[in-house]
Amino acid sequence: MAEAGSFADKVKNQADIVRVIGEYVRLKKSGQNFTGLCPFHAEKTPSFAVHPVKQIFHCFGCGKGGDVFSFVMEMEKCPFPEAVKIVAEKCGIPVPRPKERTPEERKENQQRAALIEIHREAQTFFVRQLEATAEGKAAHAYLEDRGLNAEAITKFGIGYAPSGGDTLLRQLKPKYPEKLLVESGVVSRDQSGARLFDRFRKRITFPIANESGKIVAFGCRALGDDMPKYLNSPETPIYSKSNLLYHLDRAKDTIRRQDFAVLVEGYMDAIAVARAGIANVVASCGTSLAEPQIKLLGRFTKRVIVNYDPDAAGQAATERSLTLLLENDFEVKVLALPAIGDKKADPDLFIREKGVDAYIKALKESPPYVDYLIARARQMDLTTGEGKRRALNFLMPYVQKIPNQLLRSEWATRIAQQLRIDEPVLRAALNKSATERRSEVKVAPQLVGKPAKQIERRLIRMLAEAEGFKKELAQRLQLGRLYEGLETEKVFAALIVAGLSEEPMSATEIGANLEERERQVFFEILFEDAQEPTWEEAESCLEALRRRQIEQELAKVQRTIEANPSGSGLRELLERKQELMKQLAASG
Ligand SMILES: [Zn+2]
Repeated sequence: MAEAGSFADKVKNQADIVRVIGEYVRLKKSGQNFTGLCPFHAEKTPSFAVHPVKQIFHCFGCGKGGDVFSFVMEMEKCPFPEAVKIVAEKCGIPVPRPKERTPEERKENQQRAALIEIHREAQTFFVRQLEATAEGKAAHAYLEDRGLNAEAITKFGIGYAPSGGDTLLRQLKPKYPEKLLVESGVVSRDQSGARLFDRFRKRITFPIANESGKIVAFGCRALGDDMPKYLNSPETPIYSKSNLLYHLDRAKDTIRRQDFAVLVEGYMDAIAVARAGIANVVASCGTSLAEPQIKLLGRFTKRVIVNYDPDAAGQAATERSLTLLLENDFEVKVLALPAIGDKKADPDLFIREKGVDAYIKALKESPPYVDYLIARARQMDLTTGEGKRRALNFLMPYVQKIPNQLLRSEWATRIAQQLRIDEPVLRAALNKSATERRSEVKVAPQLVGKPAKQIERRLIRMLAEAEGFKKELAQRLQLGRLYEGLETEKVFAALIVAGLSEEPMSATEIGANLEERERQVFFEILFEDAQEPTWEEAESCLEALRRRQIEQELAKVQRTIEANPSGSGLRELLERKQELMKQLAASG
C-alpha cells in the first residue's frame, strides 16, 4: 500500500501507531504490547493489541488487524489517501498541497472557480432585487411579517428572485457559456433544450455557503402559494446536499468553543435560532441527516442537541438521525418543542411565539436521547404484553447502538422502570440482541478450535522475524516442500516469497497478500510472547515437519496396499513402506 518513497511511506515511517490509535482507544502497556478495548466490536475485557515495534494492531476477539492506515480507514470509514492525510495531520507531518497534475484537474478547478463566481454574482443580484424593486419590496414586507428585520436580512444575505423568468439569465449570459450556467443550477434549460430560464422565480432566496463561507447553492421559498414551497439548487460540482451543513461556516468556531451544536432541519429554523443568540446552530437542509454531514460535524464536536420539527416526518428524521449519530459516537440530546395551541412548533415558530428565553430554557432542559425515546415508547399502548413488546422493539435498536457496556446497562434499568418491564427479562432480551448484533457485524473468527499447531506458529514467527537465518529457513522449507498441506500453507508460501526476495517486506505488506483468515492467523502469531528464536530450534521444527511428511506418505502407501492387496505394484509399495519406516526411525 505505502509505496517506498511515497508520501504515505514517509508518514508510515514517522507515525507512531500507539499514539494515533491512542487517540481513539484507551491503551495500556502490557508486556511488549499495548492493549485496550476493541473499537470494532463490543467487549468488556481488552482483546485489542497494538505492537509498537512492528507498528501493527490486532484484535483477538473480532480478528480485525492491520497497520496505522487500515486502523484509521476502519475508524473513519475513509479511503486510503484520506487516512494517510489524517495520520499525517495527527503526527504533525506537513501534507503536500495536491498538485494540479493533469489538464483535466486544472480544468475542473477552473470550472469550480467559475461556478463559485456565478453564485457570487447571483447573490449580489438577488439582494439588489429585494432592496430595489417593487416586487422585492413586497417580499421584504413578507419577511418582516415573519419576524425578520432588516438587520437579519442583511446578515443572512436573504434576497429575492423576481418573477420575470430570465432577469438573472440576461445578466449572466454575456459572461459565461450556457453550459456552465446550466451546470451552476441557477439557470435551467427547458425540455426542448432550446431555451434557458431562471431556475428561481418569485421566491425568497437564502444563500447556502460551504464550510469556508463560499456560496455554493441557494435555498428558495415560494412567496405565494406556488409549489413547491421550497426549491433548492440541484447537486452540482460545488454542491452536494449530504456534504454540507447550513450555517456551519458561521457556527463552527462557537461549536468548537462550546463543544456542542444545535441541529435543526431548515434554514429558517437555523436563522431563528442563531438570531436568538445561539450561534452554534446548523441545519441539515433536508429531512434526514446524511453520514457525511455527521462526519463533518464530528470534526468540531461530538455533542449535539437535535431539534427537528415535531411532525411525523420530523420525528422519523430525528430517529433516523439518532441512529447515525449514535453509531458515530455522538452524545445526543433531543429537544421536542411543545405544541403552541393546536400548532406543532418548529424552532422558528416557537421562538416567534414564546420568545428567546423560553427557547433557551427548553434547550437547556432537553433530555438525553434515550429519555426522548422512552417518552416516545410510552405513547404506545403499554397495557398489553403485545404493546410492551412493540415498545421494546422500538427501543432496542437504539440501545444496541450504545458502544459503552456500562451505559447500555444503565439504560436497561431506566427502560425497565419506565415501561414497567421485568428487568431480568429485559436484560436477557438485550444480551441476546447484543450477541446477535455482534455476529451480524463481525465475522466470527473461523480459527476458533483449529489453531495452527505450535510448530507452525514458531516457524512462521521465525520466517517473519529471524533476521539472522530467515532466508536459509525459507530455502529449506521451499526445497523440501515441507509446508505443503499444512493448515497455514498459504501463510508459509507468502513468507517464503518474502524471505527469498531481496526487498524487505513489512508484516502489513505480507498480510495484504493473504486472505483475511490467513492474515488473522499471521497477526495473532506476531503478537504472541515468544523467546528469541535460534537455528537449533528452527532445525528441530523442520525435522518435525519432515517427520510429518513421512508419516503422511506412509499412511498413503498403507492405504493403497490395503485397498488392493493383490495389485501389480505391491512389491514397490512394500519397498517404499520399508524405506519410509526406516527414515522415520532415523529421524525420531
Ligand atoms: Zn475486535
